[in-house]
Amino acid sequence: MITNEFIEQLKKDNITVNTDECMKNHTSFRIGGNADCYCEVRDTDSLRKTIFLCKKHSVPYFILGSGSNLLVSDKGIDGLVIHLSGEFNEITLAEDNVIRCGAGSTLARLCNFAKNMSLGGLEFAWGIPGSVGGAVYMNAGAYDGEIKDTAIAVDYMDSSGNIKRCRDDELDFSYRHSVFTDTDNIILRASFRLTPRAQDKIYERMQELMERRKEKQPINHPSAGSVFKRPENGYAAALIEECGLKGYEYGGAQVSPKHAGFIVNDNGASAEDVLGLIEHIQKVVKEKKNVELCCEVRFVGRK
Ligand SMILES: Cc1cc2nc3c(=O)[nH]c(=O)nc-3n(C[C@H](O)[C@H](O)[C@H](O)COP(=O)(O)OP(=O)(O)OC[C@H]3O[C@@H](n4cnc5c(N)ncnc54)[C@H](O)[C@@H]3O)c2cc1C
Repeated sequence: MITNEFIEQLKKDNITVNTDECMKNHTSFRIGGNADCYCEVRDTDSLRKTIFLCKKHSVPYFILGSGSNLLVSDKGIDGLVIHLSGEFNEITLAEDNVIRCGAGSTLARLCNFAKNMSLGGLEFAWGIPGSVGGAVYMNAGAYDGEIKDTAIAVDYMDSSGNIKRCRDDELDFSYRHSVFTDTDNIILRASFRLTPRAQDKIYERMQELMERRKEKQPINHPSAGSVFKRPENGYAAALIEECGLKGYEYGGAQVSPKHAGFIVNDNGASAEDVLGLIEHIQKVVKEKKNVELCCEVRFVGRK
C-alpha cells in the first residue's frame, strides 16, 4: 500500500516521485486516469531500491516506456508507474557494428545514432514512436523489419533485483512478443548487431519509410498505432474496412478514416469508449468474416 513512509523513502533515495499523476500526459492516446504514484528512475541502483521498496510495502509497479502502445483505464493505475531516464538513455558503440542502447531511449534516437555511425539495420524502426525497452518488449516491427533481426542481447533486472542477460535465442522473439512479455522483468538495455552501410542510403530509406507512414497513417492524431495484431492470412485494417467500419465512431473514439487499423481519439475519448469500439469491431469482424481479432494495444490499470 502507498503510504507517506513509502513516498518519503523514495524521496530520500533521490527518486523524483509524483502522486496522482495524470496518465493522459504519458500516453500517445491521450487517455487514462491517474496513477497513484509516478517516478523517474535514473540508474540501476535506484531502480533496485525502488523495486525493493515496492515489495516491502506491497505496492504493485508498472514499467512505462513512451506509452505508445497502451490504453490506460479511466480509473487509473494502482501503485507505482516507473519511467526509466538518466543512464537508461545512454547509447554507445560497444564494439564493431554493435550498438548498446538504454531501454529509456527513444527508438528515434537509436535510429539516428545508428545512421550517424553508418550502421544499417534499424531503418524500419524510424517512425515507430516508442522507447527501446517498449520496442524490445513488444518486438516492434514494420516494413519487413523487426527488433528481433538485430537485437543480440538484452540486460534486465528480475523482480529480486538481480541483473541478468538474455542472448539471441533466449530472447524468444515472435510476432509482437518477446521473452519479457507478461513478466515482471525490467529491460535495462539492449545490444543490436548492425551492418555497415552508407549514411546517405540509410537516410534515404528512413525518409522513404516515414513518407509511407505519413501517407497511410493518422500520425498527427492521438492513437496507439495498430490496435489489432495481424490475423493469419490477412490484415486487420482490410477486414475492418471491408466490414464498413472505417470512420465508425463510438463515443469520442473513431476508427481512423485514414487507416482502419487505427483507433483515434479526436474527440476526448475515454478508455471505455475505446474498449467499446474495440468490442464492436471484434463482434462485427467475427460475424461478417469469421475472424477473431486480438488486441496488440495493451490495456493497463484498474478494471
Ligand atoms: C502512430 C503510431 C504508430 C505505430 N507504429 C508501430 C509500428 O509500425 N510497429 C510497431 O510494432 N508498433 C507501432 N506502434 C506501437 C508502439 O509504438 C510500439 O509497440 C512500441 O514498441 C511501444 O513502445 P513504448 O515505449 O511506447 O511502450 P509502452 O507503450 O510504454 O509499453 C508497452 C509495453 O512494454 C512494457 N515496457 C516498456 N518498457 C519496458 C522496460 N524497460 N522493461 C519492461 N517492460 C517494458 C510496458 O510495461 C508495456 O507492457 C505505433 C504506435 C503509434 C502511436
